[in-house]
Amino acid sequence: MRFRLCESCGQQNMIYRNFHNLKLSGLGLGMMRLPVVNGDDNIIDEPKAAEIIDYAYRHGINYYDTAWGYHNGNSELIAGKYLSKYPRESFCLASKFPGYDNSNMPKIKEIFEKQLKKCQTPYFDFYLIHNVYEGNIDDYLNPDFGILDYLLEQKEKGRIRHLGFSAHGSTEVIKRFLAAYGEHMEFCQLQVNYMDWHFQEAQQKVEIARHAGIPVWIMEPLRGGKLAKSSNEMEAELKAMRPDESIPGWAFRFLQSIPGVTMVLSGMSSLEQLKDNIETWQTDAPLSPEEFDTIVKLADEEVRRGGLPCTACHYCTSHCPQKLPIPELLALYNEHIITGGGFLAPMTVASMPKEQQPSSCIGCRSCEQVCPQQIEISNAMHEFSSILGL
Ligand code: SF4
Ligand code: SF4
Repeated sequence: MRFRLCESCGQQNMIYRNFHNLKLSGLGLGMMRLPVVNGDDNIIDEPKAAEIIDYAYRHGINYYDTAWGYHNGNSELIAGKYLSKYPRESFCLASKFPGYDNSNMPKIKEIFEKQLKKCQTPYFDFYLIHNVYEGNIDDYLNPDFGILDYLLEQKEKGRIRHLGFSAHGSTEVIKRFLAAYGEHMEFCQLQVNYMDWHFQEAQQKVEIARHAGIPVWIMEPLRGGKLAKSSNEMEAELKAMRPDESIPGWAFRFLQSIPGVTMVLSGMSSLEQLKDNIETWQTDAPLSPEEFDTIVKLADEEVRRGGLPCTACHYCTSHCPQKLPIPELLALYNEHIITGGGFLAPMTVASMPKEQQPSSCIGCRSCEQVCPQQIEISNAMHEFSSILGL
């Protein structure tokens, strides 16, 4: 696959990255946030989605990322229906095995066959082991389920061209996964953006991938659009450095600065977003080291302002009669509060043993006696438990 010129203007208006013999558009269309009807995530607004896919295709985007679970299964159907209008070798299609739901592990064959049918394709250019995290890594690595063996078999048959994984787990989980399956992984998809660079250890995760020699695909470059609405202080500082760059533009330039980043996936819900993002991706304008450090510093300050100031010193843990993993729970609490919700904290807490969840706090406040940051830990545990309903 080579790069394509824009069908409207005849120019190359997209950056392309090399991957094996492919030229992949630097920006890929994430199909998890297609426009929907009446705010119902299950009902995709087909005319608008078709317009987005067609505009993306005609303006040089050649990578489309769907998954079994997106839009309750309807994203794959839309991908199949609208991408099948184009020559199959002119675009790359990615989908994923939904092991985020452990009950799917024994059904890999059945699910994979259905995915090919839904997507109206004889093969996936890219196929991922979806969302490796604390709650499913044991099953993913369990030879009884044979996940890797099955996928390697499909690859041998040409039904998967490139195999990779996505991960929301900790650095330890990612290392463990790579130690077991790394030699077969050609790429990995990680949540990386300036807010998560330190906050969610995105920097370390990128370094782990680099160390393993695996290129990085980015998901949530704008944290589900939340980074597009930075604080006034942050926006003013960024504008002072690059007056003509939009805030989403900063998020993309940040990613253009990271060696090893090959693909940036953005879930775009409107034609306007798509047009803006394509315009940004006409140029490679990575941040200078000073700009990079500044945006990370500003993001870290935003995180500190929005969350509890836990430094993960662990002084508190030996004082907890319930043996709660307090710093880990506070990190998840911060993640949930600062980002205004999302699936990450509920998913991770639900995968923990009941006795380690915030609801097991008995409110004794022993931890607070030794916390150098004077955090009201018991209140946080109580609030977190009621927010999550766990
Ligand atoms: S207040 Fe909760 S978290 Fe703190 S020591 Fe007591 S049980 Fe543990
Ligand atoms: S003592 Fe305070 S700052 Fe240290 S890990 Fe516990 S909650 Fe965090």
